[in-house]
Amino acid sequence: DHSPARDAVTRLTRWADDFPQPGVRFADLTPVFSDADGFRVVVDALAACAPEADVIAAVDARGFLLGGGVARELGSGVVAVRKSGKLPPPVLSQSYTLEYGTATLEIPAGSIGLDGRSVLVVDDVLATGGTLDATARLVESAGARVIGVAVVLEIAALGGRERLGKYPLTSLVTV
Ligand code: AMP
Repeated sequence: DHSPARDAVTRLTRWADDFPQPGVRFADLTPVFSDADGFRVVVDALAACAPEADVIAAVDARGFLLGGGVARELGSGVVAVRKSGKLPPPVLSQSYTLEYGTATLEIPAGSIGLDGRSVLVVDDVLATGGTLDATARLVESAGARVIGVAVVLEIAALGGRERLGKYPLTSLVTV
């Protein structure tokens, strides 16, 4: 079935083998977003996942671009979910394990009014799901309800969908 978003992503994504390390096939969506029609149809398709969202949680860094667009389309707010060390205290933190070591994501504590809100989490690529699972738990720790997770591209072999189990997940393209 025809989807302009799927067509744009399939046509414009730039794949890089062995980046950032051997064995990884990296999906660079920059050419999708730099194309006016590509950006619009992708943002519209993500927004359609959860039209009732009060707030979009956008994941550092490419999720920021998408999240701002989706929030504008829905008339919702947007929160940048930052890598650790970028925000002044007080913050809420959520750490998660990477293949080697750990990473931490943060949002401001208290002042952003997430309590009781319905949140859609947005990012560009779902790989292992560690980043998006940590984001969802971080948003929940602020008292919000995660009503969905939406990504442009899902790399199915890495098992992110299973890791995100309890959250409704939409991906525009699955490879
Ligand atoms: P994840 O393993 O799902 O936690 O992915 C971590 C982050 O790295 C996500 O924000 C993705 O955008 C990015 N990422 C992981 N693997 C890839 C890949 N093969 N191509 C592009 N981005 C990736």
